[in-house]
Amino acid sequence: MRPGDEAELSEAIRAASGPLRVRGGGTRGAAREGAVLETAGLAGIRLYEPGALTLVAGAGTPLAEIDAALAAEGQRLPFEVPDLRAVLGRAGVSTLGGVVAENAAGPRRVAVGAARDFCLGLRMVDGRGTVIRNGGRVMKNVTGYDLVKLMAGSRGQLGVLTEVALKVLPRPEAEATLCLPGLDDARAVAAMSAALGSPWEVTGAAHLLGRGTYLRVEGFEGSVRYRAGRLRDLLAGFGSAAEVASPWSAIRDVTPLAEVPGDLWRLHLVPSEAAAVVARLGAEAAVYDWGGGLVWLRMAPGVDLRARAGAFRGHATCLSRPDAVPESPEIARLTAGLRAQFDPRGLFSDPAGA
Ligand SMILES: Cc1cc2nc3c(=O)[nH]c(=O)nc-3n(C[C@H](O)[C@H](O)[C@H](O)COP(=O)(O)OP(=O)(O)OC[C@H]3O[C@@H](n4cnc5c(N)ncnc54)[C@H](O)[C@@H]3O)c2cc1C
Repeated sequence: MRPGDEAELSEAIRAASGPLRVRGGGTRGAAREGAVLETAGLAGIRLYEPGALTLVAGAGTPLAEIDAALAAEGQRLPFEVPDLRAVLGRAGVSTLGGVVAENAAGPRRVAVGAARDFCLGLRMVDGRGTVIRNGGRVMKNVTGYDLVKLMAGSRGQLGVLTEVALKVLPRPEAEATLCLPGLDDARAVAAMSAALGSPWEVTGAAHLLGRGTYLRVEGFEGSVRYRAGRLRDLLAGFGSAAEVASPWSAIRDVTPLAEVPGDLWRLHLVPSEAAAVVARLGAEAAVYDWGGGLVWLRMAPGVDLRARAGAFRGHATCLSRPDAVPESPEIARLTAGLRAQFDPRGLFSDPAGA
């Protein structure tokens, strides 16, 4: 099914008698059963006001089209959308709806947040076929129940997004990345914590095993030069930090793990515990992002990382096999209640949370 507008989509959902699988650009691949409901017909930028830092587009709009429109005005989406096609061997093109449904976030999350934090409003069709509008198209207009926050990260399980209004930001004039070589994982996390806790507005803090520990500052040229210098002084106890070419798109897309075989796992954890958890896992390779709050790992195929990790504060997802890690009972209870409200016929339900 490929509805051409919201009315056709509503009609298709009302008429559906079995499970539906919402598909944007399909980069995430198909883990669940059901008739495919494509959003490609709901595409196009509907409003872009660079002066007001807002953009409204259909959910099926390719991300590349949005990036190009913003770049032409010296602006960008502030959250860095990961492109995991190479590391997961997937095809397709990311769409705005898929990005919001995944609540996409890259290395800059430590400074600015995720897609959810830039959604001003949305339109969607729920499992009854009802068209819902929430939020607004300007920044001061969030009233009532904040459905926008709920739909960001809902992975097509509560309904179909048809339009999203986003806050956008200017591209910074300059960027500098410092690299500390040779730190072990625990020292690297300590260095990243010191940098992130400093007043020098670090917008990226990552550690690549065997390569180095990277810290990014962005902004006006003079400010970047000053802050990079102060950061270097602050981190002198961890070694001599050198300025290097930007590694951030590789870190965002986890490309250092692209050539490493095995399942791709993502761990969200407490940074101070990250090194100890990773050491217990015996992973083939790892990338630390978000100052150690996010760790990407390659594990031998079929290994259940959670069993090997033991108890830790956080959670793990296997991106190579999304059905391998079911929702925890607590989350499952919450989502079951939401699904009953938004999708009483269970058209979009997906017990595996895939
Ligand atoms: C396995 C995998 C997991 C990923 N997880 C993340 C992640 O957690 N965080 C992150 O930052 N990036 C993630 N990415 C990278 C990237 O953000 C997404 O691949 C991409 O943005 C999804 O866009 P898409 O149009 O291809 O969506 P698709 O792959 O088509 O769909 C992705 C999910 O969103 C739902 N969806 C798509 N469009 C709509 C819509 N209009 N309304 C409602 N639901 C919709 C789908 O049902 C599906 O659950 C992931 C990539 C892969 C391959």
